[in-house]
Amino acid sequence: MLIQFLGGAMEVTGSTHVLSTRKSRVLRDAGLFQGRRAQAREKNETTFVNMEPVDCMVLSHAHIDHCGNIPLLVKNGFQGPIHTHAATKDLCELMLMDSAHIQELDAEYLSRKLDPNDPLIAPLYSEEEAEASLKYLIPHQYHERIQLTEDIGVTSYEAGHILGSASHIFDIKEGRRKIKVGYALDLGRKGLPIIRDPEQLTDIDALVMEATYGNRRHKDINQSEDLLAGVIRRTYEKGGKIIIPAFALERAQEVVYTLMKLYNKVDTNGNNIVPKLPIYIDSPLACEVSKVFGKHPETYGEETLELARSRSKMYMSEYVHLIGTVEESKALNDDPRSMIIISASGMCESGRILHHLKNNVEDPRNAVVIVGYQAENTLGRRIVDRAEEIKIFGKMYRMNAERVVLNTYSGHADSKDLLDFAKNVGDRCKTFVLVHGEEKSIMDLAANIQAARPDARVLTPSRFDIISI
Ligand SMILES: [Zn+2]
Repeated sequence: MLIQFLGGAMEVTGSTHVLSTRKSRVLRDAGLFQGRRAQAREKNETTFVNMEPVDCMVLSHAHIDHCGNIPLLVKNGFQGPIHTHAATKDLCELMLMDSAHIQELDAEYLSRKLDPNDPLIAPLYSEEEAEASLKYLIPHQYHERIQLTEDIGVTSYEAGHILGSASHIFDIKEGRRKIKVGYALDLGRKGLPIIRDPEQLTDIDALVMEATYGNRRHKDINQSEDLLAGVIRRTYEKGGKIIIPAFALERAQEVVYTLMKLYNKVDTNGNNIVPKLPIYIDSPLACEVSKVFGKHPETYGEETLELARSRSKMYMSEYVHLIGTVEESKALNDDPRSMIIISASGMCESGRILHHLKNNVEDPRNAVVIVGYQAENTLGRRIVDRAEEIKIFGKMYRMNAERVVLNTYSGHADSKDLLDFAKNVGDRCKTFVLVHGEEKSIMDLAANIQAARPDARVLTPSRFDIISI
């Protein structure tokens, strides 16, 4: 059997893999490329134009770099089933409609800057096109085996990354040979709030695995509370605002959960450990996503069910305000009080977060707190890399606000988790394929896996490469 990597190889975004035999072809994920605008657009537009038709698709989870190109897949003629977890199906409906909306706003903005005689820039896909693609999603549960084609089946497992996220084992029949290929991307980590820990894949011949944090360790999840408490106290004393760019999916909810824990804590003298600043969640999508969480208690353990109940309560807290309209969002700018604003997109590429950054980064009383992974060539990454100036809507702004990076919230396995996962997969596995990471991260993890498993081959494919298993 063969696997071709159409995206997400030697890079983090655009995950798109094709598994093929002589008889059938299955697509795993159809992710949106993000990063430099023109380059990402070119990759997104061409991925499926040159792809031979596939019989069906298997979708791992609802992050846009894994599902965001489904409307383009359908636009290019795909009409097969897209098998996924029931929670992912529900989340995808929100994520794809939101993505289409962003594409439309983006195209409109770029078209406005054109010469009146130039043709208008079309969105990558429209809201109608996104909606038309949703009917192909078929909901399933973990551990259910699906016969995808005559010779390829798949079983999904808890990936512990976000709600509904799945790792997979594909079982392939090639003549008398039976091959099992494991997919662990995106792979989560133990101890994340809300979702279950990832399940270990075993008894497979090959493992395709992510390497986002292939050469980095995360700080302890519990440290996030102290770091967050510190920045709240400092910013309050200066009379500033705290801006938190967050992915609408999971991170926004986890940050609010931690803030509520801090607000309920007192020191030995009975004083609050942080000032209870008002929290504004300025992301209509984040609010919608929270509702989907309530719909899927089947994905929670007992302990997390309890969390889910407190989660719905926390949104009713007197300190948490959900922002709906653009006017309400703009009004935050004129409000002189110290406050916390949580807004999407998580990598600061689009959405309302751009307005909050533009209005606040030049004031040294303010703070920007980064809580998620920031891909290369995104605005979020430039903030993490301590750029002195950042460009928003074509204008440069001096970055005078305090910068705090909390990678404790990452939903991805770190270098130790990944190496452990590769070791625990068992001796039957003779091929390790590392994808979904930047080059350095992939190469460092590859060296560590090779050292632990000298008998196995460790592959690090690039875009369009084909490997044989
Ligand atoms: Zn993901």
